[in-house]
Amino acid sequence: MISSKMTKLTQTNSVIRAMFEEGMRLAAEYGRENVFDFSLGNPNFPPPDAVGTAITDILREYPPGEIHGYMPNAGFPAVRAAVAESLNAGYGTSFGAEHIIMTSGAAGGLNVALKTLLDPGDEVAVFAPYFVEYGNYVSNYDGGLIVIPPGSPDFQPSADALEAAVTPRTKAVVINSPNNPTGIIYSKESIKRLASALERRQKAYGAPIYLISDEPYRELAYDGAEVPFVTRYYRNALVCYSWSKSLSLPGERIGYLAISPEADDAGIIAEAAAIATRVLGFVNAPSLMQLAAARCLGEKTDIAAYDANRRALHGGLTSLGFECAFPEGAFYMWVRAPGGDDRTFASDAKKHNILLVPGTSFACPGYVRIAYCVEKSTIERSMGGFARLAAEHGLKWK
Ligand code: PLP
Repeated sequence: MISSKMTKLTQTNSVIRAMFEEGMRLAAEYGRENVFDFSLGNPNFPPPDAVGTAITDILREYPPGEIHGYMPNAGFPAVRAAVAESLNAGYGTSFGAEHIIMTSGAAGGLNVALKTLLDPGDEVAVFAPYFVEYGNYVSNYDGGLIVIPPGSPDFQPSADALEAAVTPRTKAVVINSPNNPTGIIYSKESIKRLASALERRQKAYGAPIYLISDEPYRELAYDGAEVPFVTRYYRNALVCYSWSKSLSLPGERIGYLAISPEADDAGIIAEAAAIATRVLGFVNAPSLMQLAAARCLGEKTDIAAYDANRRALHGGLTSLGFECAFPEGAFYMWVRAPGGDDRTFASDAKKHNILLVPGTSFACPGYVRIAYCVEKSTIERSMGGFARLAAEHGLKWK
């Protein structure tokens, strides 16, 4: 018999599985080119050529034992030093190699951070809409999730709501910018206000509250938009980064956790995080990918291609009468569900072979998420279906 926690997960997992299976069924029935699957955040563009070059060069240059063997749980010291240096050059920070733990993607980094910080019963605050896995990750360590509902139509996080929600049991706050699912970038003002609210609360409670910034989309910011780097604004901050999206490497499971050198207990947090990496069973982040990532620190995915998708989708949908924010980053569009019921709307969309994720899956009903990390032609071909969907919901052409 499986555990009660996993029993619950197998039940909720069936929703995601059902969507995946529905996509397969529709593709078999209508042909893959006639199914518009906007449900998954899997980058469709290949990694930059530099990644393949780095991998082949490394395989040629290093003795195999040095590439494929075990290493310190926190990662190759030279790789950690290179990551620290690139952060310092980019953000004027003062990370040392000792503050960087190489991780299996941002998901691995979040789990390592939460394992490091949480005692059973500790709380972690998140802002809705939020990446649904946060609840599962917090539950892995028997923490409790505090969900702060969206306070404003622009989906910037509300510092007042955060200050009201945290309690003496709150150990951490997880934020994500550029945001999945809204595509919003948290502004410098928002980050500063969150930082002041947390400073006041930790002073009042006499205990640190850590800000964990989940940043797999940091490099995916359009029109030169700035993504504020949180350790510059808040001392007790940890950053979970990943190359899953920025280099289109989600299957390779590579990222890092950066612990602010100014954080309370930074040294022991880093030590514990390395141990967490081991005892969670990752042991260390994938070795070849650590070495490759260190050689590709200046590389970026083709943001112009995502930008073209963003413009095509936003232009198409708004002209059909849909209400959607113009995304500032990541590759998601957050669209108000006509009629207000996101699940009904997503199921209506499916009748036109359009697969969307209801906002309820992000604790924010009334919206749907469209992942536009697809071929541009998929967006173009989907517009007929969106037009029929808009007409069915009485939307007016603009
Ligand atoms: N955090 C957010 C907000 C995400 O959207 C994702 C993946 O889609 C992750 C974390 C996990 O990313 P990774 O592949 O780096 O583990």
